Amino acid sequence: MRSPLSPIVLLMLAACAGAPLETRARPMTDAEYLRSRDLMVPVFGVRSRDLRDTYSAPRSGGRAHLALDILAKKGTRVVAADQGYVLRIERNELGGKTIYLTDENRRFVYYYAHLDEWKYGLAEGQRVHRGQLIGSVGTTGNAPPDTPHLHFQVMRMGSGRRYWNGEPVNPIPYLRRTGDER
Ligand SMILES: [Zn+2]
Repeated sequence: MRSPLSPIVLLMLAACAGAPLETRARPMTDAEYLRSRDLMVPVFGVRSRDLRDTYSAPRSGGRAHLALDILAKKGTRVVAADQGYVLRIERNELGGKTIYLTDENRRFVYYYAHLDEWKYGLAEGQRVHRGQLIGSVGTTGNAPPDTPHLHFQVMRMGSGRRYWNGEPVNPIPYLRRTGDER
C-alpha cells in the first residue's frame, strides 16, 4: 500500500521521532553512570556529610591519594557500595587485606583496603548487593595502627579488564546513601 504522506513529510516525522530515541541511546557519561548507581557510603553508619574529601591529599613519593579514607572504629562493618561482583580478595603490602568489587556492568571497580577481616565466606566471582557486609574496618597494610579506616577507591575498569589499573575517579559526589547493612 502506498503511503498517503509525501516523502518530505515522512522524513520530517522520522526526524522528530528520532530525536528522543537518539538521546536515550547516547551512552551515559561516567558521571551520569555513577550517579545512577545510587552508591552507598561503604562503612556502616557513616553519612555522606561525614566524609572528608581526601582524594587529592598528597602521599609519599609525590603521588596524590586518589581515594577516600573513611575513618571508623576498628571492627566497624564494611559494606558493598554498589551491587555487582567480587573480582578479587587479596592481601598486599600497602593495602593489607583488600577486596576488589565491580558493578554489575563491570564499568567501575571499587577497591577496599586496610580491612581488619574479610567477611567469612566471601568469594571471588560472588554476586553482592548494595549494603552487603563484606568485611570490617582495620589497620592492615600501611595504615597507621592508631587510625583505623577504610581506604576506598573507585576506578574505571582498566583496559583488558585489568581491574587494578584503571583510572581513578573521586567518588565523593556519588556517595549519597548512608552506610547501612541490608
Ligand atoms: Zn587511603
